Amino acid sequence: MVTTPADSIAAHATYEPVIGLEVHVQLLTATKIFCSCSTRFGAPPNSNVCPVCLGMPGALPVLNKKVVEFATLAAMALQCRINETSIFARKNYFYPDLPKGYQISQYDKPLAEHGFIEIPAQGGVGAKGSAVGVNGKKKIGITRVHLEEDAGKSLHEGFPDAAEKTAIDLNRTGVPLIEIVSEPDLASPDEAYEYLTRLKEIILYTGVSDCNMEEGSLRCDANVSVRPRGQKEFGTKAEIKNVNSFRFIREALEYEIARQIDVLESGGKITQETRLYNSNEGKTYSMRSKEQAHDYRYFPEPDLLPLVVDEKWKAEIARALPELPEARRARMVKDYGITEYDAHVLTSPKSLADQFEEAAKAAKNPKRVANLVQSELMGRLKAKSIAIEQSPISMKGVAASADLVESGTISGKMLKDLYDLAFERAKDFPTIYEEEGRPQQSTDTSALDKIINEVLAANPKQLEQYRAGKTTMLGFFVGQVMKASKGQASPQIVNELLAKKLT
Ligand SMILES: [Zn+2]
Repeated sequence: MVTTPADSIAAHATYEPVIGLEVHVQLLTATKIFCSCSTRFGAPPNSNVCPVCLGMPGALPVLNKKVVEFATLAAMALQCRINETSIFARKNYFYPDLPKGYQISQYDKPLAEHGFIEIPAQGGVGAKGSAVGVNGKKKIGITRVHLEEDAGKSLHEGFPDAAEKTAIDLNRTGVPLIEIVSEPDLASPDEAYEYLTRLKEIILYTGVSDCNMEEGSLRCDANVSVRPRGQKEFGTKAEIKNVNSFRFIREALEYEIARQIDVLESGGKITQETRLYNSNEGKTYSMRSKEQAHDYRYFPEPDLLPLVVDEKWKAEIARALPELPEARRARMVKDYGITEYDAHVLTSPKSLADQFEEAAKAAKNPKRVANLVQSELMGRLKAKSIAIEQSPISMKGVAASADLVESGTISGKMLKDLYDLAFERAKDFPTIYEEEGRPQQSTDTSALDKIINEVLAANPKQLEQYRAGKTTMLGFFVGQVMKASKGQASPQIVNELLAKKLT
């Protein structure tokens, strides 16, 4: 039997993992944070550069106002307190892809602090004993959100002489980032996964980043340690760097937690270090022992003034704050009578939520719209790999079709057929409905009468049971009649006729 890291963690429930995440998000500005170079992804190497982002002597940084607005908006959406004054600081280190020899970041006075994200409770208790709230949600603290510039990129492959040489692309240097640092409140890899999912969803709602992990606009480092359950002090932590999907983060954490428990169980000690995750092997490897924070010799950036976001500017930025996913779900449940599950499916991405609400407001029964979008529309979109924005059936079309079912004009079976035709012919529902000659389900009671008589005659046993008091048999007969009518009959009329005949 193969033991997975998850099995191993479960077998050592006396240990408690403590996880904190550092997420870098690239802001969607057209230009860099301290110069007017383009931030466009995929430009030829070293084409989006100038003396400022190349760190030439004498070049001076000028802060991009849009960067501050985007970062502040994101921090507000993460429930942070915005510091009126924050300070840029130099983080000094040498690396080939860092031409200045330092990175401009923020240190002891960051842009924003003391935020949180709520995640669905997994039944655990946070590292600081942050218990699960009454609403079944667990609050994960956000220590800080600060601004910084990205570094360049070392390219180790893809060149004929890649075995001997490393190439440098400095297009990324000076690309604006926010770093979102969580408290060590995450108590399992699943919680880390949930936190990242919620974080990404919130950032996407604000529109300040595309959070595209493949292009590096969202990157995550994880700090993880284990300690005997009940112990107050943290264990020695390892940092797992630059894992490029949420699923891999979860796997890397599972592996790393199991590894640390193993080391401790066999009497060893955990070394504080940076580790890399190899997703092919599902293992983490030691990369280097961890530099201490003071090794960076942070000091205030002398070329930039303190950043002041005053009340007036804050209020202006806050006006761009959208209704956030959690709040929107709660409101949609209340406004449209849909379930929480429906609301979850229908709010991600935001464009789907916008479209759904447009239809729900236009239709007689929003709950039916929610069902149709999930059961009939999204399934067909997924099967054809079409984005909701490119759906042949518009939300107005969904609303119109929902109303036709609601009024009993068409049956559910007819709706399915009409949706199939809409996808086949790439036309909206109302057009297809017209093209098909405005079909209606059969309300011809004499034809239905005949079918009902046939069904009753063909099922004497069930009829006997019904007459003996098993009234639930009615559903069986309705089903049989619907089947015999090939879905063309109105269930409502079938019900009425059957009830009459059986009394
Ligand atoms: Zn530049």
